[in-house]
Amino acid sequence: MFDRLKILYELQNLDDQLDELEELRGDLPNAVEALEEKIKGMKNEIAAKEKDRKDSMEKRKDNEEEIEKLKENQKKFKAQLYQVRNNKEYDALTKEIDHTEDQIGKLEAENDNLADLSKKLSDEIETITPQLNESKEELKVKEADLKEIIKANEKEEAKLRAKRKEIESQTKKPDYLAYMRIRKAKKGKAVATIKRSACSGCHNIVPPQRQLEIRRNNRLFFCEYCGRILVSTEIADKVDA
Ligand SMILES: [Zn+2]
Repeated sequence: MFDRLKILYELQNLDDQLDELEELRGDLPNAVEALEEKIKGMKNEIAAKEKDRKDSMEKRKDNEEEIEKLKENQKKFKAQLYQVRNNKEYDALTKEIDHTEDQIGKLEAENDNLADLSKKLSDEIETITPQLNESKEELKVKEADLKEIIKANEKEEAKLRAKRKEIESQTKKPDYLAYMRIRKAKKGKAVATIKRSACSGCHNIVPPQRQLEIRRNNRLFFCEYCGRILVSTEIADKVDA
């Protein structure tokens, strides 16, 4: 049992050291992630606007071809006007001419709108692009900073991780699960010791009777206030020595 408690204390020690390394990175990992998200969002936005712009340009080209065709027809209709033989033919032709005129007008109006839309989309793309480039630069800097910090502690971290793996394999499965659960709930600290008759995790006094029991090192005790695993100072001293 003594070893079982000692292992948990060792595990906590290693995690404390790993947490410290993690802390050196500060907000950088979050900042990098946030920038990556932001860049992705802006890229998607630009791509969507570029697609809309391309679509509108294609539609404009189609309309222009259609307008050309209608204008050709219009010429033919107008030439035919000189060859009409009766009023009925004349009316039919003028109706055709008016209708074509309307169609041309509609398509030209649509193209004006499409041109405005293209311009608006281009302007928007032009506004986002420098923001995107700025974020990309910022990301480069932050990634380099983070890389440097990680590199500086690479060896130490690898050593600690290897040691932790070894300790983890020696930990009883239910102990490990309890440890990880408390660690998650208590921001990293799952194991506490008794310091001046109090739990080192929450500083609440541990009753004398319980302190005696903990000192026997023959059972897993949890702090009744914070739920952390309590180990005796004897174990802590032995590991820390
Ligand atoms: Zn406590």
